[in-house]
Amino acid sequence: MTETYVCSHCEATVTRPFEIRSLIRTCDECDENGRFLHESLVESLHSLPDEELPDDWETLPLDERFELALRQGLIQLTRK
Ligand SMILES: [Zn+2]
Repeated sequence: MTETYVCSHCEATVTRPFEIRSLIRTCDECDENGRFLHESLVESLHSLPDEELPDDWETLPLDERFELALRQGLIQLTRK
């Protein structure tokens, strides 16, 4: 089993043999140290209704979009 994680800053991806919500690592592509979100979370961020989102949404790193969407109740975390 491999799971895909997406860089919050440049959307480069890495795979890991386990599933968690996010990884903290330094990106090979953009050299930012930050969060890589599991691809399922990134997909849910892409399916949010535009009218609920702030104007600068597209400029935010993915991890900030994720935190914001959680605070606004736009996404739910499913527990396994
Ligand atoms: Zn990156």
